[in-house]
Amino acid sequence: MQAAWNPLHKLGTTLNIYSVLIALVPLAVVVAIAVNLFQQQAKEQAINQMDSVAEVKINEIERWLNSSEITLNLILTNPDQYRRMVTILKTQGRMTPAIASVDFYLTTQLGLQNSFEEMFIYDLNGEIRASTNQDQEGRFVNELPFFRPGLTDRYTQAPYHDPDYNRLSMVVSQPIRDNAGEIVGVFVGRLSLESLSDVMTTRVGLGDTGETYLVSTEGGVLVTPSRFQEGVGISLASTGIDRSLNGRNGSDIYPNYRGQQVIGVYRWIPAMQSGMLAEIEEAEALSAVHEVREISLLVTIAAAVLAVVIASIGTLWITRPIRKLTEVATEVINGDYSRRAQIRRSNEIGQLATAFNTMTDKLVNTLDERNKRLDEIREVNRQLRIATAMAKEAARIKSEFLATVSHELRTPLNAIIGFSDMLLLGMSGELNEKQRHQVTRLQENGKRLLSLINNILDITRIEAGRTELAFSAFEPRQLANRLYNQMEVLAQQGGLKLEMNVDPTLPDQLIGDENRIEQIVVNLLSNAFKFTEKGFVRLDIKANPEKSEWTLEVTDTGIGIPPHALDYIFEEFRQVDGSSTRVYKGSGLGLTITRNLVRLMDGRINVKSKLGSGSVFTVTLPMLESTSAVDISLAEQIEA
Ligand code: ADP
Repeated sequence: MQAAWNPLHKLGTTLNIYSVLIALVPLAVVVAIAVNLFQQQAKEQAINQMDSVAEVKINEIERWLNSSEITLNLILTNPDQYRRMVTILKTQGRMTPAIASVDFYLTTQLGLQNSFEEMFIYDLNGEIRASTNQDQEGRFVNELPFFRPGLTDRYTQAPYHDPDYNRLSMVVSQPIRDNAGEIVGVFVGRLSLESLSDVMTTRVGLGDTGETYLVSTEGGVLVTPSRFQEGVGISLASTGIDRSLNGRNGSDIYPNYRGQQVIGVYRWIPAMQSGMLAEIEEAEALSAVHEVREISLLVTIAAAVLAVVIASIGTLWITRPIRKLTEVATEVINGDYSRRAQIRRSNEIGQLATAFNTMTDKLVNTLDERNKRLDEIREVNRQLRIATAMAKEAARIKSEFLATVSHELRTPLNAIIGFSDMLLLGMSGELNEKQRHQVTRLQENGKRLLSLINNILDITRIEAGRTELAFSAFEPRQLANRLYNQMEVLAQQGGLKLEMNVDPTLPDQLIGDENRIEQIVVNLLSNAFKFTEKGFVRLDIKANPEKSEWTLEVTDTGIGIPPHALDYIFEEFRQVDGSSTRVYKGSGLGLTITRNLVRLMDGRINVKSKLGSGSVFTVTLPMLESTSAVDISLAEQIEA
């Protein structure tokens, strides 16, 4: 029953699993918490970074707008040109030389800066009267959004869609007034959005994937080109874009317009009517986190491997002596009691081995002793068997001898009784008084002797198994009446009371050997009368249906039986007073016959007695009721 040994099985596996768990669980928890915190920090850092980039860009945009306005104002400080512009605007019709001069002036100014890509003036009707782009002259701007606000004050037009250029435009304007201070037209500078895009695409603080861009409410398009050359001219949407265009400022993680997961900061810039977005791809912002995560994973795997190695070595160290001990134990179980565990360790395993060896020593001693005892018991048994056989044989010979002797004695005894009868009847002549008395004594003694011999014959028959019971249905109440009539004489002779009670629940009919039952009760009642001087003798017949039994109980108020005699009075020829000077007559065979008959009927007999107060003999018999089924089983029982 020794199992194949494998360090990875059973104890080893358990130890490995526990070691790996002990090594990994705390590590995993710490790593998870650390990585999480680190990630949180990295995110916050990315948001802060994007926030400051957005702040810088917004400042730059404001500066760009301010400087553009200043540039425009400076251009209008030339009094000659200003006057010319007023004249052109107040005068209807062509004024070619003045316009040419203004055009030239403006074109020169345009070349000196890079904030604007076009400059022009329009009159109160919205007609462009002079421009750095002569193709535009004569065109009307009264449909464009800046037309009306421009006629009232300085105005900056947020990006709008210009149908002539079919792209976003942005303008800064300044009203032109005549000498009377009346507004006669508007000087407009079309801003170069490319100069803005220079500002926007400066990549300071944006890493590899970061970008800042402006999205206009005007169609949701990019105000400046994307650094990724994507999304130009089309309407864009993302969580950040939508929120900023709704006038909100904040930060979040979301997929941007290119579908990249980004950490983004969004701001609403009212002057530009645009949303400013500063975004960095989450993958880049959290790349350090990923690295930490990978390193943690590697460390965890290394810890697991180390745990398994250490656990395996530990397992070997623990299981090797246990395996040895198991081998030795198996050999001892298989009968080799000379084996002992050779394990020298001062720890618990060493103690276990020592305990095992001590236990085996004791086992060997116990076994030796047991074997010795067994031999002794065997010898006693053998002698007992011989003695039993001898006793049985002796009993058989005794029974046979008694049966033969009794039989042989009965014939001459019957002759003696018969002849004494004839003598008493006067068949051989009349007897005188003395002769009659002596023949009567002769006959009485002959009858007593015959009864004794009959009793002996009875016992020997029962013991030899030659007595057969004759089972049949009988009426217990009738039996009781008969017994009463039979015994009443004895009661009268002894001056005693005879009582008899029959349980009303007792069935009317029972199955049994009525004659033998009668013999039993007569024996008990006879004893009761014999050993009772005064008082009463009572027979109680009771039913005990729960146990399927019925009892015959004989009670007397006689001399009683001393406790030590209760056992032996049932033995053959045993009497309480066995001396030759005894008062009570009898052979000491009545109770033996009674007990043997009761046993033959599968019953039992008990006696309770108190010296000087009386005795109770109880015979308990199985209750066999008179049904055919019982008859059959009974017949089988008897046969068996
Ligand atoms: P015996 O022929 O002597 O009566 P038994 O076998 O019937 O033989 O009884 C054995 C002995 O048991 C008796 O001798 C007597 O000493 C005692 N004994 C039996 N029945 C009674 C009784 N009812 N009261 C007192 N002693 C009894």
